[in-house]
Amino acid sequence: MTASASWTARDAAAVWHPFTQHATWTGDDPTVVDRAEGPWLWDVDGRRYLDGVSSLWTTTLGHGHPEVNAAVAAQLARLDHATFLGATHTPGIELAETLIALAPKGDDPELTRVFYAGDGSSAVEAALKIAYQYSTQTGHPRPKFVRLDHAYHGDTLGAVAVGGHELFHEAYRPLLLETIGIASPGDRVHDPDRLTTAVSHLESVMHEHGDQVCAIIVEPMMQGAAGMLDHDAEFLRTARRLAYTYGALLIFDEVATGIGRTGRMWAAEHAGVVPDLLTCGKGITGGYLPLSAVLAAEHVYEAFLSRPGDRSPRTFFHGHTYTANPLCCAAALANLRVMGEQDVVARAARLGDRLGKLLEPVAAKDGVVEVRRLGTMIGVEVAPNGDRTGFRVCRAARDRGVWLRPLGDTVVVMPPLTLGDDEADLLVDALDAAIDEVLA
Ligand code: PLP
Repeated sequence: MTASASWTARDAAAVWHPFTQHATWTGDDPTVVDRAEGPWLWDVDGRRYLDGVSSLWTTTLGHGHPEVNAAVAAQLARLDHATFLGATHTPGIELAETLIALAPKGDDPELTRVFYAGDGSSAVEAALKIAYQYSTQTGHPRPKFVRLDHAYHGDTLGAVAVGGHELFHEAYRPLLLETIGIASPGDRVHDPDRLTTAVSHLESVMHEHGDQVCAIIVEPMMQGAAGMLDHDAEFLRTARRLAYTYGALLIFDEVATGIGRTGRMWAAEHAGVVPDLLTCGKGITGGYLPLSAVLAAEHVYEAFLSRPGDRSPRTFFHGHTYTANPLCCAAALANLRVMGEQDVVARAARLGDRLGKLLEPVAAKDGVVEVRRLGTMIGVEVAPNGDRTGFRVCRAARDRGVWLRPLGDTVVVMPPLTLGDDEADLLVDALDAAIDEVLA
């Protein structure tokens, strides 16, 4: 028995995995990851794979970067954990200052405050609660959220409610917040006029429900987990204008798109639009430790300051035991510092262009529906050919030394932002051959 088979059997006897159907889990021959370095993963049998999805879209600099490792080790030796309730600490303060300096800039509003959370879903959850409470503290309660069809914002109840996956809504419907779904501006399969459809849908929804809507939530430029559905910057400008007109907040969920992934630090920059709340996670620590944040506009923050004569406290009732854990903040600070020193966002833009060029012949293949890309956020949609085509393509790529993960029949390609040319070639060659094998 291989080490992988033995560990998989032990896993199956004890572990319950996220978003996983355990009736078929062991049959899927999961990879038992043992160690990692740079863009490479090794399994417990010593097989090496290129990490083509950055360990779920996180490892901006690759694994084991010496400066990030050193920063976390130094922080561990100094202060492992301290509460952010009633106390503060230097890495938490420095990281907030750094994020504010990096925040997307425009005419208005200005993102000036940072609220920490633990992962993408809990950043979204915090943003939703902030938006609702903001409405109660600045005018009247507005219980509705406007969301996009196909959106993915996480798996906590609020995040599920503002997502656009019918499957997830169905499973938890009685527990969900009130939301209004808008046609996705990225939905090219169902609607060639997707941008105008989405814009007019949003306009009519805001016209009808505007004074009940506390926020419009959008993954800017690219709906990631929907299968990499890119959309036009014009949609974001429309959402910004309508949010102002109707007194709702605009939330950009940059958990996937942020921290250089789309070739800019923030996807919002492609549109020149600044939201009132911006969530980020995934790449913030470069994949080293779990952390996320909500960047908030000053006017939002101010609505939470108590005033003489208030009948109820304006406190934001939210926070967790490990909020702003110092190790996580130190990892994020080191990741963002190295990214700045090595101009990693510009490198990501160049890498994205190179991958785009390499994928042109793949896009032209029979059986490849479309390649969608913004920076290094890439989806290669293949036509179904039997069951779980996307999954089988990823398995065939794994046989060729490249680890990928699909979203349905869209194969996600989201490598570390610092991927080298040879590794980019290997990734695309393996994907190309895997598609040929599965679609043959
Ligand atoms: N928001 C977006 C846009 C995401 O893509 C994801 C995860 O893929 C999340 C939120 C949830 O993040 P997490 O899985 O860290 O909770």
